[in-house]
Formats: sequence, C-alpha cells, structure tokens
Amino acid sequence: MPIAYDPKKHSPDQEALFVKGAKVIYPPAGQAGEYAPLATNPYKGCGHKCAYCYVPLISKQPRAEFDAGAFLRNEYLQKLIRDVAKYKAAGVTGQVMLSFMTDPYHPGDRNATRASLEILIEAGLSFCTLTKGGARALEDIDLFRPGHDAFASTLTTLDPAFSLKWERGATLPAERIATLRLFHSRGIFTWVSLEPTLDVEASLRIVEATNSFVDLYKIGKANYVQEITRTTDWRDYTLRMLDMVQKLGVKHYFKKDLQPYLPQGYPNPLRIPQHH
Ligand code: SF4
Repeated sequence: MPIAYDPKKHSPDQEALFVKGAKVIYPPAGQAGEYAPLATNPYKGCGHKCAYCYVPLISKQPRAEFDAGAFLRNEYLQKLIRDVAKYKAAGVTGQVMLSFMTDPYHPGDRNATRASLEILIEAGLSFCTLTKGGARALEDIDLFRPGHDAFASTLTTLDPAFSLKWERGATLPAERIATLRLFHSRGIFTWVSLEPTLDVEASLRIVEATNSFVDLYKIGKANYVQEITRTTDWRDYTLRMLDMVQKLGVKHYFKKDLQPYLPQGYPNPLRIPQHH
C-alpha cells in the first residue's frame, strides 16, 4: 500500500489526498489509480475466483487461499473509523472506492460492507462500489445517494458460459446488468469497467446493450492474460470502441495502456465526476 505521493505512480490530483497516519483509506497507485482517487479494501480474499484476477499476484497471497473466500481484515472497521476522522480533520473529501483487492459484494459474510458505507457517509465522504456481485448489492441500495455515490460493475461478456469459464464464482452478466439498470433507475451514477477485455467483440456488444443506463465506461486491455494480451490487435480495438462510444455519445475513459492508440490530442479526461 502506498504511503507517500509518488509522481511516477500517482496522478497529480491525488497529491492532496494523502492523509498522514491513515491505514485503510489510501490513494491507489498506477492502474488502480486510474479508477479512483481513493480506495479501501475491507476484506482479504474474494470468492469470485476470476481466472484473470491479479490480486493474488500483487498481494503475494496463494491463489487457492485468495479464492477460498473473503474475510474481514484485522480490526478493519476500527481502523476505518480512525481513518475517516483523520480525513475529516484534514478537510479531505472525495469518493472512496470499494474495492480493488477484493469485491465488496462477494458471496460470503459482507456485513462489513454496509458498515463501511455507513462510516464513510457519517464522515461526509462519498463512495463508489465496483462489483461482480450483481443483486447482492441491492442489500445496500438504500445507502447510495444520487449526487454523491456511484455503482459500478465489471463486464467482460454477455455470454453466461464465457463468464462461468473466466469468473466462475461471480454472478452472471445478466444479473450484473439488471443491477446496473436498477441503480440507474434510482438516480445513482453507474459505470462499467471494461477491463479486462478478453474478447473485443464482446466488449463492443456490452456497450451497445447497456449504454442507455450506464453513465461511464472505463476501457482497458487484458494485462494478466498473456495469450490474449499478445494476440489482440489493441489499436483496432481502441479505434472501434472509440467510434462506438462517440456515435452513442456516452462518457468514456481509455486507460493508459490504450491511450497510445487514440488520435493525437484526443480529450480523454482521467476524472469524470462519478455522480449526477
Ligand atoms: S471479483 Fe475482482 S477481486 Fe474478486 S476474484 Fe474477481 S477480479 Fe479478483
């Protein structure tokens, strides 16, 4: 976990977000930092068992142990209460994302997710959840505030068989999509992570199928799936996706990995506000 601002790893807007002594809210670095200026991870492990998951690799946790399920981190809620007090005292507000290193709506005991959201709200912070837990997120929908919070889901395909192959513990794409639609109908800002892109045609079809209730797409490649990374024509993908999002008029952000393929000078703002 980063402890100090590093201009090589963090974006300039994150510099002011480092609060001394904070333990469980942090400005994520690198590729994660492209998703959110602040993040927190209540759990260790995740029961979604995505074959492409990079977390066991970067956290040096055996994959079998990581896949066995999510467990609350040691004294997490107490640490979160102390952190939000520090953020409040420092006058730092912002949207905190749950989560990069786990899924807030994993299949196990997730009481701490609701407790975490309540603690963030109480401290005047907004939040965003990124999940493949589908309808499990509805248990907290009453806490999401239009104008403050956001709900996001990762989608790699519309095909249930493909999803079961790659994300065998997660909910199926149709359930994730129905949940996005429901959050959007309640006035909550919704976004979709198109990362990893495992199948170019599938990602294009996702945008076609969901753009009427998704406010923003974050588009990336497949960094931890070597064969797909090597064989996909990322330039062609970027240009086709660009054509589609422009024709549909939907908000989008191409992650750094795909930016070399964008037309020179193309406006691609990193921080599109994630609330209505
Ligand atoms: S949902 Fe996210 S954290 Fe969980 S296994 Fe899949 S990629 Fe990893």
